[in-house]
Amino acid sequence: MQGQQPPDLSNVDLTHAKDIECEECGNRGFRQTMMLKKLSALVSPNGQEAIIPVMAFACDKCGHINKEFEKMDIS
Ligand SMILES: [Zn+2]
Repeated sequence: MQGQQPPDLSNVDLTHAKDIECEECGNRGFRQTMMLKKLSALVSPNGQEAIIPVMAFACDKCGHINKEFEKMDIS
């Protein structure tokens, strides 16, 4: 026991990890970006229209955001 240590990922076998590719151009480089969701006053908890920023990843080449990132909730 050496107290708390950050998890060591250098030994993880990535052989079976899946590469995520851009749905549009097949590029495998992504950059972190922000999507904005507009919440209508009807469903907003305080009854006012709200804009909510959501983290997402966009293709570094064409800027496309894969569907699976849109559904992902990582905020
Ligand atoms: Zn792309």
